Amino acid sequence: MRVILHVDLNNFYASVEMKLDPSLKGKFVGVCGSIENRHGIILAKSENAKKMGVKTGMVIKDALKLCPELVLVEAKHDKYISYSNLVRDIYRKYTDKIEPFGIDECWLDVTNSVKMFGSGEEIAEQIRQTVKNELGLTVSIGVSFNKVFAKLGSDYKKPDAITVISNDNYKNLVWNMGVENLLFVGRSTKQKLEKLNIKTIGNLAITDSDFISKKFGKWGETLQTYAKGEENSEVLLDEEHSEIKSVGNSITSYRDLVTLDDVKIVLTILSESVSARVNDYKIGKPDTLTLFVRDSELVSITRQVKLDYPSCLAEDYEKTAYQLFIKNVKGKFSIRSLGVSVSGFNKGDEQISFDSLNYDKKSKLNDAVSDIKHKYGNESLLKGIVLKDKKFMKEDPKTEHVVHPDGHL
Ligand SMILES: [Mg+2]
Repeated sequence: MRVILHVDLNNFYASVEMKLDPSLKGKFVGVCGSIENRHGIILAKSENAKKMGVKTGMVIKDALKLCPELVLVEAKHDKYISYSNLVRDIYRKYTDKIEPFGIDECWLDVTNSVKMFGSGEEIAEQIRQTVKNELGLTVSIGVSFNKVFAKLGSDYKKPDAITVISNDNYKNLVWNMGVENLLFVGRSTKQKLEKLNIKTIGNLAITDSDFISKKFGKWGETLQTYAKGEENSEVLLDEEHSEIKSVGNSITSYRDLVTLDDVKIVLTILSESVSARVNDYKIGKPDTLTLFVRDSELVSITRQVKLDYPSCLAEDYEKTAYQLFIKNVKGKFSIRSLGVSVSGFNKGDEQISFDSLNYDKKSKLNDAVSDIKHKYGNESLLKGIVLKDKKFMKEDPKTEHVVHPDGHL
């Protein structure tokens, strides 16, 4: 079962304004396009202004009638964008599957992070606290098994709250809600549904599906899947929204690496995981590899080298990273962390070299290995060297220890 979070920053614009100017705290705050313009509208409001009846989209003078103490501030979009990015940096500690929905909401697929960080609810709690402590902003989070229910959860209780919608409680929780709470049910769909006596999400879920598709067509069928909890679209990868400059992973091993065989094992795991991600992202072949080494005294080095030819292959990364290691780490060593990243993606033509002639053949083998791992798990096919110490494989490096492409590696 997937674990999906929907995180919603509460009263985002107004909260950022209060961060930038703490004297606004406790006051009734209305954010608007331009204060000069008396016909301007309210873009966002603080929690207490909301309680006074101030609504987004309201003309300023109407808002002032409802809430005479309203303090108007001009929207600072560049600041909202930078706060939004800071919040996403926090999400990236848990997953690279982050799909923004506007500037203040994101879906996160944390299915593969549960082993490392705890249940969906625990991850939500960590995110709630971190965003609050580090940025002084509150979030409401829905935890569920699909995007639509996660979104319902973040709306259910706010601000500064977490709601879990599980297989056990969704009929009690979701099915009693008005149908208008469902994602993409606007006012007119709501009216049409209500005319047919479909008032709650539960009503929609249990209505005869032929009836729904006759009345609403394909769109109705889609909405009914939402109501039934059968929506199953993927949370998009964060990287799909921005150009990827590098792909890398690092591992802090459970014990120090003291032999070249130890190093080879970890570089094998890292190279395979980086190669798998490069192939997943379909962003062409990188021509540069970077090796990161940190020893048990926490001294670190970073070394970069051009690959012999642009490549998506794990074995090329492994070979290059190992050569870099041997060249740069002399004598006795005790290594705490290793990282491998690749960059310089080139989608265009490349020079043909002797080695690259073999590329197609190797590439097919590489794909076959990825497919088997995808189907049967990461442990199904390990290179002999890795079997020397299987503890290194406790976690799947493709989905954990993920270093964000724009990261420092
Ligand atoms: Mg919000």
